[in-house]
Amino acid sequence: MRMALAYPPFKSCPCGSGRSYGHCCGPLHAGAPATTPEALMRSRYAAYALGNAAYVLQTWHPDTRPGTLDLRDGTRYLGLRVRRAEGRRVEFAAQLRLPDGERYTLRENSEFVQVDGRWLYLDGQSPAGGDSDPV
Ligand SMILES: [Zn+2]
Repeated sequence: MRMALAYPPFKSCPCGSGRSYGHCCGPLHAGAPATTPEALMRSRYAAYALGNAAYVLQTWHPDTRPGTLDLRDGTRYLGLRVRRAEGRRVEFAAQLRLPDGERYTLRENSEFVQVDGRWLYLDGQSPAGGDSDPV
């Protein structure tokens, strides 16, 4: 099993919360349960940014989880903005730089479900009225 890249706990969290990694997504990556869908969504984004595929898979509902996930394709995760968090849904926009250098804004309305007291990512759709489009 491949270890995720270590990330200093005092640095600002890749999810863009403004808090340090050690007081934001770090504990979740270390095994603490997310208390809200938004917290899980942020920690999953941070895991993508840090190349922590194991965490992304582990927090994905078994019904929709892909068999494998390779986060070393060269995509860079430049920033996250949570636009709305309501009930089991979180709408966000993530700024990416694709392997070919193109910048891309991924907009998604994600749905989460709680299984055995843990939030899991179920799936996501493009939000109504705002398709996924290049910046
Ligand atoms: Zn965070």
